[in-house]
Amino acid sequence: MKKILVLEDESSIRSFVVINLCRGGYDVIEAESGEEALKRLNEHPDIKVALLDVMLPGIDGFEVCRRIRATNSKIGIIMLTARAQEMDKVTGLMTGADDYVTKPFSPAELVARVDALFRRAGGDAEDAPEGEIWKEPFLLNTRNRTLEKNGQRVKLTQVEYTIMKMFMENPGKALSREEILDTVWGHDYFGEVKIVDVNIRRLRLKIEDNPTNPTYITTVWGYGYKWGF
Ligand code: CA
Repeated sequence: MKKILVLEDESSIRSFVVINLCRGGYDVIEAESGEEALKRLNEHPDIKVALLDVMLPGIDGFEVCRRIRATNSKIGIIMLTARAQEMDKVTGLMTGADDYVTKPFSPAELVARVDALFRRAGGDAEDAPEGEIWKEPFLLNTRNRTLEKNGQRVKLTQVEYTIMKMFMENPGKALSREEILDTVWGHDYFGEVKIVDVNIRRLRLKIEDNPTNPTYITTVWGYGYKWGF
């Protein structure tokens, strides 16, 4: 069963989201506060994706995201944001979300975004070729979907892992942002290409020796990124 958590304090928006996700074949667990969301996640460890509203009474959606990520790097997280400044915060994104949807959104858009992330978080896709990709100081294990740097485990979200795998499979090749978007999020993704930059910024914080002067994931100006040093 495709289980998803929806955290939204406004009941009209929550119902709208829930109805559309149910139509899309999801089993939806609802929460109206951050505290309740964390409780539901404990009760349902098989939840694969969480949709988190940002503006909430009590702890906000960013804090919920941070607390989820402290113990769970596998779950897919989409933030529901209402305003431009919230989106900037997400773009500055230290909280660990994989994607964001700005209100108001269409049901088709929302479900497509959830579908795309669910495929990643579910890890059910093309897992076939298994083994290891080794590139000093990194070791990517495609069976466990894990990354090590100098023998130390680097905790990655599923999206970050998929980006990392794409880079390590294409050493020295400039990859356009659109190409990364297509490969990681899928051709049917509705979102903006900016999400690629956001995730790469966060990935750099985790893998680079000096994230402000990256040497592993380098920027190809006006085009995209390259795995190469
Ligand atoms: Ca709200």
